[in-house]
Amino acid sequence: MDKKIIIIGGGASALMLASLLPKNTATVIESNPKPGAKILISGGGKCNITNTRMGTGYFQADAAFVEPSLKRFDEKALIAWLAARKLHPVILKETQYFCKDSAKELLAVLLKESQKQSILLSEKVLEVSKRENIFYVKTDKKTYTARRVVIASGGLSFPTLGASSIGYEIAQSFGHSVIKTGPALVGFTVQKEQFFFKELSGVSCEVKIRIAEKVCEGSLLFAHKGISGPAVLDASLYWEKGQMEIDFLPHFSWQSLYGSKKQISSLLPLPKRLSKAFLVQFALEDKPCNHLSKDEINKLMYLSRYSFAPAGTFGYTKAEVTKGGINTSEINKETMMSLKEQGLYFIGEVLDVTGRLGGYNFQWAFSSAYSCAQHIKEETNED
Ligand SMILES: Cc1cc2nc3c(=O)[nH]c(=O)nc-3n(C[C@H](O)[C@H](O)[C@H](O)COP(=O)(O)OP(=O)(O)OC[C@H]3O[C@@H](n4cnc5c(N)ncnc54)[C@H](O)[C@@H]3O)c2cc1C
Repeated sequence: MDKKIIIIGGGASALMLASLLPKNTATVIESNPKPGAKILISGGGKCNITNTRMGTGYFQADAAFVEPSLKRFDEKALIAWLAARKLHPVILKETQYFCKDSAKELLAVLLKESQKQSILLSEKVLEVSKRENIFYVKTDKKTYTARRVVIASGGLSFPTLGASSIGYEIAQSFGHSVIKTGPALVGFTVQKEQFFFKELSGVSCEVKIRIAEKVCEGSLLFAHKGISGPAVLDASLYWEKGQMEIDFLPHFSWQSLYGSKKQISSLLPLPKRLSKAFLVQFALEDKPCNHLSKDEINKLMYLSRYSFAPAGTFGYTKAEVTKGGINTSEINKETMMSLKEQGLYFIGEVLDVTGRLGGYNFQWAFSSAYSCAQHIKEETNED
């Protein structure tokens, strides 16, 4: 029986899968001249691999789908797997595991482990078909056959690094549905009412952003094109057009304003440039707080619930991930195999599973690869 497995894509999930499968059982096909390009630029070049805080709540996904893989290969198992290969990530920002010096460290481990498989580079997969239990994987160079095909082709973000829609196209050609995709973990552009944000480029502050029932806390960074920063990137996971509400003073007690002789811009715990810009917007003079009328205080309190509709996002060229993707209700949550086509698997970002900022997307790439590998190993042993 032909045990060959073709893995489409040579990113994080594919390299982990290739590492976990028995020697000489898989062929990885990657369109880039080098595998793992995204790993190298991730986490500011240090790759935020995973997080000490793990759980389905950190994912925009069906929790019941994500849970078995996260349990089977959680952050502790991942860190142990890396440690056994002499990679010891460090915890930064309280909970986030990063490579000590460079993302190259993680890529080196994955490349070393996956060398036991054949890795084809600069070869683009064009389509997959199946006849009499054999998959035919057509690339821009030739057609390969396999008994199993794993789609690990990622999402649409960062097209310059090889992102393509091939995973969705293959899924659809086998009768799968794709949940609407969009750029996520990305900044927002603003409408003209908020053009003053652009003049604040470089200023940052701590905020709480609310979108429907979701709350994202952390830094907001005013950018040349709009707003960015960790809290904003997380918020983009939940935003679908329409309003969002920002609390620019999440830890401030408005009580401290009453009777204070301090100027407004001195009392508010915000960068002065920011307080002053808002005072202009609210048509308020910067004056001692005890000179403020009730109406003026009410205007100022809008800073705790600043509501506006972004114009859009910075788009796929800047987005760290793609939200949406292959409908997980059509995938076996224990094995990552298609419920529509025997032998066809999907792992990583191509699925409708998107993590928050903090290492969750790599954890998902690795956990889903692990579930897939376990199943293939069990099945091939039985052949
Ligand atoms: C700037 C940036 C920073 C990030 N930082 C972090 C971080 O610190 N922590 C974190 O958890 N996540 C981070 N991410 C997200 C993370 O990189 C992805 O979620 C993760 O790489 C997904 O793994 P994957 O294997 O599913 O897809 P990818 O890693 O995207 O791999 C898919 C591969 O498939 C290849 N491919 C596509 N089409 C074809 C085709 N037709 N034929 C052959 N090959 C094809 C692509 O070239 C690519 O190499 C970041 C992303 C970006 C863009």
